[in-house]
Amino acid sequence: MALPSPLDADAPTWPEIRQGVRDLCARLPGSYWRDKDRERAYPKEFVDALTEAGYLACLIPEAYGGSGLPLSAAAAILEEVHKSGGNGAACHAQMYTMGTLLRHGSEDQRRAYLPGIARGELRLQAFGVSEPDAGSDTLSIKTTAVRDGDDYVIQGQKIWTSRAEHSDLMLLLARTTPKDRVEKRSRGLSVFLIDLRQHIGRGVEIQPIRTMINHATTQVFLDDLRVPVSALVGEPDRGFAYILDGMNAERVLIAAECIGDGRWFVDQARRYASDRTVFDSPIGAKQGVQFPIARAYAQVEAADLMVQQAAQRFERGQPCGKTANMAKLLASEAAWQAGDTCLQTFGGYGFAEDYDVERKFRETRLYQVAPVSTNLILAYLGEHVLGMPRST
Ligand SMILES: Cc1cc2nc3c(=O)[nH]c(=O)nc-3n(C[C@H](O)[C@H](O)[C@H](O)COP(=O)(O)OP(=O)(O)OC[C@H]3O[C@@H](n4cnc5c(N)ncnc54)[C@H](O)[C@@H]3O)c2cc1C
Repeated sequence: MALPSPLDADAPTWPEIRQGVRDLCARLPGSYWRDKDRERAYPKEFVDALTEAGYLACLIPEAYGGSGLPLSAAAAILEEVHKSGGNGAACHAQMYTMGTLLRHGSEDQRRAYLPGIARGELRLQAFGVSEPDAGSDTLSIKTTAVRDGDDYVIQGQKIWTSRAEHSDLMLLLARTTPKDRVEKRSRGLSVFLIDLRQHIGRGVEIQPIRTMINHATTQVFLDDLRVPVSALVGEPDRGFAYILDGMNAERVLIAAECIGDGRWFVDQARRYASDRTVFDSPIGAKQGVQFPIARAYAQVEAADLMVQQAAQRFERGQPCGKTANMAKLLASEAAWQAGDTCLQTFGGYGFAEDYDVERKFRETRLYQVAPVSTNLILAYLGEHVLGMPRST
């Protein structure tokens, strides 16, 4: 019996875009992603195809050459990529880093970069926030940018700057006023748009970090990097607010990827459980196998409601820190639970590379750590939503 496919929301958003992404992803099957994973190679063909189809420019306004779609369209694109068995991490950052430039950059900066990004000639894939000593405490970053005439001189080190080797531009957070001289804790940091093409080997050194997933992540060393004042995005010392704004979009998009992962795991698990027969009946007829899959399905669908709500609030310009954080928390946990259930359903075969389950299992685990770890979301909810004392 052909299984029905109830693995979409009842009324999926952006059905035509979803179909287009599904068609594109069908050209890049599991074997494509497995090969890239094995070699830790950048999925260039996938990124090129997504760029050529215009999906990576979906959030760029039409005035700058994009399609001017709202966040829910970008979420639908990334969800479909993950639901097809692929992974959007090779390029998803362009969707949310671009927002910082769009909302806080000058008109000159927007005109200089956004049309090129929309045409796919320029890549803005790198987001340099994390540092080795600061960890989740972003306000403690040590990279400094000191004004010197018409330039800023930047000194420091970033870690986990994903895709830096595959990006022309990097959005960088650096301290412009020392921590003990700011009136508010969140002030004193600034955002810069660094043109990596001009600076690699001249103030910027990139070192890849090999990880348990194929993520093209790196360390970036900034040594007397001299950039013009025109590289500053928005006003000096206000950069933390600018990146927080982009981080809500990031949380929603990552959560949508988790929903895609969760739906992929549930689909794989239900198909396998319906086919695989041991002890004379399909394993899916055994409650010990069927019920965890049904539970994983319910959890993914529930998380998706929060993702949709967060995207809507972002699109309407309403405060969305609470919903964006909850969407990321619930979706990443639902995806992980679905992944664990899927692996268990496949038994030994779940560990074999050919089924893609072990790859997706590794990939979806990241989202409880990055871009923000689960504990930090819980701390945010505890303090800022529930009004409890600040967690230390
Ligand atoms: C593959 C990958 C790609 C990444 N890509 C990027 C990128 O492109 N750009 C970028 O800037 N960063 C990136 N990151 C960094 C990512 O955002 C950080 O790893 C994440 O924010 C956690 O920081 P940390 O690793 O320093 O962990 P830490 O802050 O050291 O935390 C370690 C553990 O302690 C817990 N913890 C810390 N503080 C508290 C607290 N106050 N209360 C309770 N628990 C706490 C955390 O939850 C975590 O489990 C990436 C990371 C990875 C692994």
